[in-house]
Amino acid sequence: MRTALVYHEEMTAARLLWDDPECEIERPERLTAAVERLQQGGLEQRCLRLAAREASEAELGLVHSPEYVSLVRGTQALSTEELQALSGQYDAVYFHPSTFHCARLAAGAALQLVDAVLTGTAHNGLALVRPPGHHSQRAAANGFCVFNNVAIAARHAQQRHDVRRILIVDWDIHHGQGIQYIFEDDPSVLYFSWHRYEHGRFWPSLRESDADAVGLGPGRGFTVNLPWNQVGMGNADYMAAFLHVLLPVAFEFDPELVLISAGFDSAIGDPEGGYHLESLSQSVCMVVKALLGDPAPPLSGPMVPRHSALESIQSVRAAQAPHWTSLGQQGSTPTLSLSACSPEKRPSPVSPGGPKCQAAEAQPSAVLSSLLDQLSATPPVRTAVALTAPAAVPVLPPDVLRQEGSAPQEETQAWARLHEALTQDTAFAALGKVLRLLNGILEGQVSSGIATTPAAAPTLEVALRQGLSHGAQRVFCVALGQLDRPPDLADDGRTLWLNIRGKEAAARSTFHMSVPLPGTTGGFLSCILALVLPLAYGFQPDLVLLALGPAHGLQDPQAALLAALLRGPAGGRVLVLVGQGSARHLVGVLARVLHGEPPPSLGPFSMASPDDLQALAHLRGQLEAPWEMLRVAAPSGVP
Ligand code: ZN
Repeated sequence: MRTALVYHEEMTAARLLWDDPECEIERPERLTAAVERLQQGGLEQRCLRLAAREASEAELGLVHSPEYVSLVRGTQALSTEELQALSGQYDAVYFHPSTFHCARLAAGAALQLVDAVLTGTAHNGLALVRPPGHHSQRAAANGFCVFNNVAIAARHAQQRHDVRRILIVDWDIHHGQGIQYIFEDDPSVLYFSWHRYEHGRFWPSLRESDADAVGLGPGRGFTVNLPWNQVGMGNADYMAAFLHVLLPVAFEFDPELVLISAGFDSAIGDPEGGYHLESLSQSVCMVVKALLGDPAPPLSGPMVPRHSALESIQSVRAAQAPHWTSLGQQGSTPTLSLSACSPEKRPSPVSPGGPKCQAAEAQPSAVLSSLLDQLSATPPVRTAVALTAPAAVPVLPPDVLRQEGSAPQEETQAWARLHEALTQDTAFAALGKVLRLLNGILEGQVSSGIATTPAAAPTLEVALRQGLSHGAQRVFCVALGQLDRPPDLADDGRTLWLNIRGKEAAARSTFHMSVPLPGTTGGFLSCILALVLPLAYGFQPDLVLLALGPAHGLQDPQAALLAALLRGPAGGRVLVLVGQGSARHLVGVLARVLHGEPPPSLGPFSMASPDDLQALAHLRGQLEAPWEMLRVAAPSGVP
C-alpha cells in the first residue's frame, strides 16, 4: 500500500507583480511551507515521490475551450502592464509570465496522481499544486484558478481508464462553482461541496451555490451543495454533515474513484481566505498521515451541532431526498427549511463525553499546537494481533505485530476470578494476551489490536473494567451477537454500551442501547452512519471495544467497515475481540483495516427494509435529546 506525493518546485514561479490586496495571499510560500513541513515530519520520505509533468494542451481541452487555452498560452509573452490589464477582466485572478507553465504543471500533477492510482502504482496520494483549480471554468479564470485541475483529472480518468463513477469532494471554504458548471448535467460525476455561504453574502455569492442547486437534466441529484449560513462551523457541524449527508450519498453512489478538491481555507487558525501557512502546512501533514493509514487524532470541542448547521443539513437532505434513497428513508420525511436568516441558537456547552461532561471550546492557537504534538505522537506499533491458537494465524501485512506475550500471571489471575469461564486453560491464556495487548494500547505503545478468545463475554467485561481502571475516561463498547452488558456495571456515563443483534431496538438508558442487525447493505449503512457513529463521536471515547460474540451475524465486509470507521472517534485506539468460531479470514480482514487499509466493498447498494428503518427511527427518536449528533434537522420551534 503506497501513497504518492506529486509536486514540482517550478509551480512556485508564478507570483503577483503589482499591488492587489485581494490577490496577494495566493503566494508561493503556500507550497514551500507545506513541503518543508512534510519533510520535517518524516512524511515525505514515507511517500512515493513523483515529479509533476505538464498537462498537454489536448488534456487541458478535456475541460477548457481551445480559445481559452490559447489565451492563457499567450500570457507568457505579455508585459506586466498587459498581464495586469488581462487579469482585471476576471474575478480575483492574476497572471504572471510563468502562469501557463505552472498551471500546466498543476493540471499535470493531478493527471499523474490519477494515473498512479488507477494503474496500481499507488493506492492513494496527494498532489500539491499551484495555481488551484476549482473556480476555473470552461473559458474563464476565476478566484486564483486558471485550469480546473480536478475536473481535468476526472475527465482523464473516464477517458483513459474507463472509470464510470467519480465522486468529487470539495472541502474548500469557497464553493467550487467551476467544477459544478462542468459536471452539472453529468450523472457520472457526483460533485459534493460544503462551503461558507452566509445566504449568498460570501464569495462567490452565487444563487447556484445553495442547497437547492442539485444539477441539471440527467445530472439532477449529482450536484450536492451544503451551504453554511453562519461562520465558525466546528467539528460537530462538519461531522454531522459528513455522517448525515456526504457518507450516505457517497456509499449509495458507490464511486470507483474519489477526487478531493482539498482547499485548506476552512481549517482552524485561518482568518480568511485560507492562507495561514502554519494551519495550511499542518493540514497537509494531517491529510498525508491519513492517506498513509495513520489514525486521525480525536476531535476536540463540544460535539453539539449548531442550529444553523442543522438547518443547512436539513435543507440539503430535503433537496436531495428525491434523488437518494438513503436520505429519503431516515426518520420522518424531511422538509425544506426556510432559507431566511435566523438567529443562531447557542448550544449549551456539553461535551466531551456526551450528556454529562463539560468542556470549554479551545482557542485556535491551542488547537494548532496540540495538533502539532499529535503529528509526532503516533504509537510505535500501529496494529497488533494476539491469537489463541497458532493454527489460526491469518495472512497479515508484514508490519502488523504478532503479539506472543501475556500480561503478568498475577494480573491475569486477579481478573480471571471474575468469571469461572476465564479460569479454563485456553480462556486464561487468551485473557493474558488480551490484557497485554490492552495495556499496550492504554500506555500508548500500540494504536489498535485484535485478539481472539474462546470466552468473548467475560473477556469483554474484563477488557472494559481494565480500561476504566487504567486511564480510560470513556469507553465505547460495541457488542455484536450474544454479549450482554454486565448487570452490575455502573451506569455513570463512562461506558456507552451498544448491542447490535437480533430484533431488539431499545434504549435502556442514555448509555445503554440495542439495535437490530439489518439484513441489507442500505440498512447496515443507515445503522452505522445514522446511529453508531453519531453516538461514538458524541461520546468522544478514548477507547473503543468492538466485540464479535457468538452468532454475531456480520459478514466480513460489514465487520471490516465497522472496525475501519470506529478508528475515527478515539484517535485509532480500538481493541477488537473476536470470539471462537469466527473464521481465520475475518481476523486477517480486520487486521488490515485497523492497519489503515480500505475495507472490502459491501457489494451493491440495496434498500433498507421497513422493519430496520422503523427500529432505527424509534431509537433515534428516544436518543436525539441527549445525543445531539443524531439530529438531521434543526429542532422545531423558535431557534
Ligand atoms: Zn477557497
